[in-house]
Amino acid sequence: MSGRRARRPWQSAEPRDVTRLAYGGARRESRRGAEWFVREIPAHRAEKRYRCPGCGLEVPEGQAHLVVWSAEHLFGDEAAVRDRRHWHAHCWRVA
Ligand SMILES: [Zn+2]
Repeated sequence: MSGRRARRPWQSAEPRDVTRLAYGGARRESRRGAEWFVREIPAHRAEKRYRCPGCGLEVPEGQAHLVVWSAEHLFGDEAAVRDRRHWHAHCWRVA
């Protein structure tokens, strides 16, 4: 009678990567009236170059920085992680 609504396909479709990013060492921060997940990327894990949204300059390979994504994304954690941005640690602090 009640078993039919127990299935939640969106949960099983969640890729592993999202879970790892969302729960593997990220901290939650409140900023500008919104909630964010912030994860520190150490220098040895910074394997690509990114564009920092705070200053518009490059985050070079090999530089420790922050990955930031929304904790309250309209389309859920998976979409939020897909939209994650790489920030200079300094730019995030002063943003
Ligand atoms: Zn920056």
